[in-house]
Amino acid sequence: MATRKPLIAGNWKMNLNHLEAIALVQKIAFALPAKYFEKVDVTVIPPFTDIRSVQTVVDGDKLLLTYGAQDLSQHDSGAYTGEISGAFLAKLGCTFVVVGHSERRTLHGETDEIVLAKTKAALKHELTPIVCIGEGLEVREAGEHVAYNVAQLKGSLAGLSAAEIAKTVIAYEPVWAIGTGRVAGADDAQEVCKAIREALVEIADAETAASVRILYGGSVNAKNVGDLVGRPDVDGALVGGASLKSDEFATLSAIA
Ligand code: PEP
Repeated sequence: MATRKPLIAGNWKMNLNHLEAIALVQKIAFALPAKYFEKVDVTVIPPFTDIRSVQTVVDGDKLLLTYGAQDLSQHDSGAYTGEISGAFLAKLGCTFVVVGHSERRTLHGETDEIVLAKTKAALKHELTPIVCIGEGLEVREAGEHVAYNVAQLKGSLAGLSAAEIAKTVIAYEPVWAIGTGRVAGADDAQEVCKAIREALVEIADAETAASVRILYGGSVNAKNVGDLVGRPDVDGALVGGASLKSDEFATLSAIA
């Protein structure tokens, strides 16, 4: 069976300027000694304007922490005002890029087709896409969450080869749990993450499905992370609010 190293990804959203970013990365690095990186991968996902500064700290201090971006354009270059190319992110040493976060899907109208195009752009530039899916409260209350997430997964990865899917990370983030303090129970997270893995067998193959990391996201903190990542198909967490607190982020990374 494939062993999957847990991944903790801190999505800073639209928080912290580049000076604050430097301070937070230094504090996380101080609180999370190198030995922890043998068992967990830790990445920070700052706003675009912080990435160069984060790169300087990570490279300068030879940190094992990686970093990424919260979004990218589906295009490589050209007349797309305000967009950021995957080529630029790769040049800045980004490892990961989040695609299809629920805030992008909801506030910026990103469909599965757009998420798929962005996933392809990330792969083209050798960035690891963290492909986000997740149901709203109405879907959960109607008991349709498994089917909804599987459909969103298939739409967001449609037509990708098994080799391409193997280079992705999937994040299951129930919308009702993001930034609400209402975390999904570990059994609920496991139910959907298991269904995602089964769907990956269908759209790729068993070997690929066993190797892809599936994260849970939604009000993860140092208290609940252990229970969540203790489940067989939950391979880490996408963390919003708690990733802005250096001690809590370091503690939950160490627990994972
Ligand atoms: C997120 O931003 O993806 C997220 C899960 O946020 P929070 O941890 O604050 O719920």
